[in-house]
Amino acid sequence: MEKLNGLKCRECGRRYPPGPVHVCEFCFGPLEVDYRYEALRGVVTRASIAAGPPSMWRYKDLLPVEGEVAVGHHVGFTPLIPARNLADELGVRELYIKNDSVCHPSWSFKDRVVSVAVTKAREFGFDTVACASTGNLANSVAAHAAEARMKSYIFVPADLEQGKILTTLVYAPTLVTVEGTYDEVNRLCSEIADKYRWAFVNVNFRPYYSEGSKSYGFEIVEQLGWRAPAHVVVPCAGGSLLTKIWKAIQELALLGLIDGPVTTRMHAAQAEGCGPIVTMVKNDTDVLRPVRPQTIAKSLAIGNPADGYYAYKVVKDSGGSGEHATDEEIVEGMLLLARTEGIFTETAGGVTVAAARKLVERGVIPRDEPIVICITGNGLKTLDPLMDRLHADVKIRPTLSAFDQALANLKSQGAEEAR
Ligand SMILES: *Cc1c(COP(=O)(O)O)cnc(C)c1O
Ligand SMILES: [Zn+2]
Repeated sequence: MEKLNGLKCRECGRRYPPGPVHVCEFCFGPLEVDYRYEALRGVVTRASIAAGPPSMWRYKDLLPVEGEVAVGHHVGFTPLIPARNLADELGVRELYIKNDSVCHPSWSFKDRVVSVAVTKAREFGFDTVACASTGNLANSVAAHAAEARMKSYIFVPADLEQGKILTTLVYAPTLVTVEGTYDEVNRLCSEIADKYRWAFVNVNFRPYYSEGSKSYGFEIVEQLGWRAPAHVVVPCAGGSLLTKIWKAIQELALLGLIDGPVTTRMHAAQAEGCGPIVTMVKNDTDVLRPVRPQTIAKSLAIGNPADGYYAYKVVKDSGGSGEHATDEEIVEGMLLLARTEGIFTETAGGVTVAAARKLVERGVIPRDEPIVICITGNGLKTLDPLMDRLHADVKIRPTLSAFDQALANLKSQGAEEAR
């Protein structure tokens, strides 16, 4: 089955053969994978998908991989959890968590994009992969390069959390910390990608890489029983994930695989200290104003997002909205999710929970419509903001009487507080 035409410019429509290129030579627009949907209709069915593996690769026909999958065979197909406790807390009827904090192997949704990009890198004959990262991508590229027996060069801002540095180094890549913001790291990587023949997953391989995010959206629809959610709240960094969840829903609709209405509204969640996409939505302008990031949500700290304009467009076209979260609200969001659902997410997840809460409170998301919130990364990687906030309740000597005394104290304190 010939499913791919190659690449196509998102702006002028000019076509390109498949290859490690990402910018249109004529208008400088971004390139996108071009599928022959007519060849897929009737071939990709619910049954064909269900017959696939319990991973993102059950959607291989809708991903830009034609040969064998090289790495990441077990990525994806993460739980979609009906979150009754959090729904009660937010005062909504039907709430789901798409939980990529447990994605294999590196505990974030970035495994989805990287397994596609590294597979394509092998297909195109590269021996070295690389990336500019805000943290989770670094983990995932290093992990998948190890599996693929490829060399990797990882570039990150020098002020990244230890929980993202060590969890990259463990896979033995070459890690380069750059004294600058992510946007400066990214600009440097564009120059390096021009000079060295490396597969930069989010630079020259960006058209392929970004397609991997569609699997997150495909799974949401399948796990809802082939229905499209009314609302999806998505954390945005470069803005790609939000656009690709939307694209996934549109593709499944095009192939006739969705029951009921496809009226999903896409909502963007960002930190107040780095929220240029949400600012566009709030100001109702398609002009992106780059910012200098200042937030604990470092995985989302992209001040000049590559897909910012397209994310804004999807939010507008879908009738969605967006919200910012302050650092305090981010930590409260992490704690709320943990306390209500037993799910420990990183700062980006705190942003999503906080934004969802505000969108409900503002009445933008009606309380009786089904909502999916995107939890995209794991809390064990961002312990720093919790360090000074959480403490054990009591410390005792190892005797029963010490415990009895401590328990009595706790109870009287509780009674005190209740009064
Ligand atoms: C990268 C990242 C995002 C956002 O991804 P984009 O596609 O760049 O918008 C969201 N959550 C986490 C945890 C991430 O690491
Ligand atoms: Zn073009």
